[in-house]
Amino acid sequence: MKQNDFVNSHFDTKLETFGACEICGSDDWTIVYNGPVRDGEFGSLTESSTIARCGNCTADRLSEDDCKDEAFYVGADYRKSLGQEADAAAFLQKHESMQLERLEVLDPSLLRNKKIADIGCAAGSYLNYAKGFAREIIAIEPGTAYHASLQDRGFKTYGFTSDALEEHKGTVDWAINFETIEHIDNPRTFLTEIVDLLRPEGRIAISTPNRDDAMLELAGESYRQFFYRVHHRWYFDKNSLTECARLCGLELESYRFIQRYSISNAMVWIRDGRPGGNVNIPCVDHPILDAAWRRHFESNETSDWLYAIFKRAGS
Ligand SMILES: [Zn+2]
Repeated sequence: MKQNDFVNSHFDTKLETFGACEICGSDDWTIVYNGPVRDGEFGSLTESSTIARCGNCTADRLSEDDCKDEAFYVGADYRKSLGQEADAAAFLQKHESMQLERLEVLDPSLLRNKKIADIGCAAGSYLNYAKGFAREIIAIEPGTAYHASLQDRGFKTYGFTSDALEEHKGTVDWAINFETIEHIDNPRTFLTEIVDLLRPEGRIAISTPNRDDAMLELAGESYRQFFYRVHHRWYFDKNSLTECARLCGLELESYRFIQRYSISNAMVWIRDGRPGGNVNIPCVDHPILDAAWRRHFESNETSDWLYAIFKRAGS
C-alpha cells in the first residue's frame, strides 16, 4: 500500500473500496489522507474516511461510502447540512459578496450578448449580474427549491444538463460552472454533457477548491479534517482538472489562482485549529501584509481557490 504523510494510522483505510476511476478508468489509487472528514458544519466529522489519488489522471477522490449521491442535492438536505436556508432569498443574501470575486476573474464583457448556461447555479447569485449583459441565460440546478425563483427572473431552468440538451445542444457560448465539479458523481460525464451544450467556439469557466491549498500543510490535522468533506467527492489541482477536461475534448485556455481567505483567517487556524471566517487579528491586520500573503500563495499556485477556462481542443 502506498501512502503519504497525511495518513492517520489510528484509522482503518478504505482503499480497498476504490474501484475504477470514474474519470479515466484506472484502479491505481494511492492514499493521500486517512481520518475523519467534515460532515456538514465545522465540528461535525465522519468516523473515518479515505482520500486517494488516481495514479493515471491524478484526481483525488473521497471513499464512496462517505459521499453524498445526487438525490441529496435535489431536496433541502444539502443546504440544511451546512446550516443554511434552502430558499432562494436567503441564499442570495448570503452569497452576494462572492460574486465580486467571480466578476473580477471572469470579465463580464466576455459574456456580452452571449448565450450562457450556469451549471450548478444554486439560487442564481451570479446570474443576477450576468443577466445585465447576456443575451440568453440557462440555469441548471438540481436543488428544486430554487427553480421557481430562477424562472421568475427569466432564466430557462433545468435540473440537470441532460434535461437542457434537447433544446440547447450546440448553442451555448459560455458554460459557467462555479464550485460544482467537486460534488459530481462522474466529472467526465458531467463535463462531456456540458461540452455538448457548447457551440464549436464555446468556452467553459470552472472554479473549484485548490487541493494544493498551502493551509493543508500550515494548519495541519484540524484544517485537513475541515478541507476534506462528505460534500466533495473530488479534489483537483490545475493539472488534474486539465487532464479531466482533456478527456472530455477540452484544452486549457487560461487559469487564475485566488486566495479567498485572509492572513488573519490562517492565523486563527494555526493558533486555534478552527475557522475564523472574516475575523481580523490586530497584530497581522494590515492591507499590505494581507495583500502580500494572498499574492504569495496565488503566484505559488497554493492558494485556496482555482479558476480555469477551457475551450474545445483544436478550436
Ligand atoms: Zn483517474
